[in-house]
Amino acid sequence: MMTEDADAQLASLMQFLYSCPIGLIDFDPNGEIGLINPKAMQMMQTVAPATLCMNVFTLFEHCGPELRNLAQTFAPRRGTVCEQKRIFVHGGHGPGQSDATVFECTMLKLSDARYLATLTDVSRQVAQELQLKQAEVWFSSLVECADDFDVLSLDASGRVDGVSDAYLEKTGLPREGVIGNFPDSFPTEGAGESGGGIAGILDQARRDGWHLDESWHQTMGKDGRWCQRLVVVRHVGDIDALLPPDASTGYVLVLRPMSGRRFDVARLRHMLQNDFLTGAYNRAYFYEAAERDLKQATRRDTALSLIMLDIDRFKTINDTHGHGVGDEVLKAIASICQATVQKQGIFARLGGEEFGVLMMVDLETSCHMAERMRQAIADTAIATASGAIHVTASFGCSQLTVAMRSLHSLLNDADAELYKAKREGRNRVSSKLSTSNQPNLQPVQLMDRS
Ligand code: GH3
Ligand code: MG
Ligand code: MG
Repeated sequence: MMTEDADAQLASLMQFLYSCPIGLIDFDPNGEIGLINPKAMQMMQTVAPATLCMNVFTLFEHCGPELRNLAQTFAPRRGTVCEQKRIFVHGGHGPGQSDATVFECTMLKLSDARYLATLTDVSRQVAQELQLKQAEVWFSSLVECADDFDVLSLDASGRVDGVSDAYLEKTGLPREGVIGNFPDSFPTEGAGESGGGIAGILDQARRDGWHLDESWHQTMGKDGRWCQRLVVVRHVGDIDALLPPDASTGYVLVLRPMSGRRFDVARLRHMLQNDFLTGAYNRAYFYEAAERDLKQATRRDTALSLIMLDIDRFKTINDTHGHGVGDEVLKAIASICQATVQKQGIFARLGGEEFGVLMMVDLETSCHMAERMRQAIADTAIATASGAIHVTASFGCSQLTVAMRSLHSLLNDADAELYKAKREGRNRVSSKLSTSNQPNLQPVQLMDRS
């Protein structure tokens, strides 16, 4: 009787596991999977196609490396290790990344020996949230004080080719002084620099589709105005693909005086695009920028390279000094790299202790940059609560080739080189050119990409 009951219970458990729309994985503290339901199996195939890895931590090493640490540093005997933690499995393929694959993971510690993770595919929800966040920025920019904003139309070079009468009236500027001029070079009475840097803003807008910031705008015979300005690239849909590489279709510039409540645009943009811990660009922004640069590099036939770096033996730092010190080291490494790369590339945190730099340069130049970062990291004694810590990092570089059709291949190549650098002893730069650890490589002069 007892066995029949137990059999029936097991059968209904199995049925539940099979039909459950959520991925369920039961694993031990090392990540070795005991039980897994079909949904989770299917999701894990998305993470690592064509592999039969039965370790959760290894599987999520690239897109959710912190899972291992979260599980292993969770001190209570049982409880919730993490709740609805988002894992960006694939960054997606275009502006807004509406096709990004994102899982939400909740991990429970059942005992010292067993953990249970639930996985839910929230890709659609994330895509909608992203659109909403962008819409929110636009919306608040336009709707707050909706009766007080001006719209200017700019041609492909950034010169004004259309302006409303209301704008001319408000600013006192003559139409002929506005049309054909850059918005930050309108004639002014007396001294005074106007907003400045419209070229940089247009560059950003071309890269991201839009750009929002605040700046000073001069007026004639009146006090200048501090304005929020939104630059949006004019879309022409499919025609875009037919245009010559350097063609741009112009912009719309929305100016909103900021006399009332200040909306912290820079902070909002930072929250959307940057990693909370290190301040580097986040993985989502990196993929977005990479897809855009890839498209541009292909269209213009220019070089595009990727550097991937991974801190060496970082787990030992956590194990020896604790997670807090590990975080301090991560922040320090990010700031060393950022100070080295500056605006010559897009520097982002791709995973736990892994970073990427995207540069519109050839492989040799990116290897020089990697070498400079390697050297700078190796030369720094990082001051932490546990005293000075020395770490090194390994680097893998790849360049976009004609044969490569996707960002995926560029990432894979850099990743393979990075693992080669690890295998060959760490603290080195590896690429198709060679594997090097040459402290005397001369730094090269690079173009500023901002
Ligand atoms: P290798 O040289 O082969 O890269 O060795 P490693 O120890 O750096 O590599 P491993 O992948 O074994 O360990 C990476 C560690 O990074 C494990 C994880 O706990 C830690 N980690 C990931 N994200 C964070 C984080 O945000 N903060 C801290 N402190 N640690 C993190
Ligand atoms: Mg590492
Ligand atoms: Mg790593």
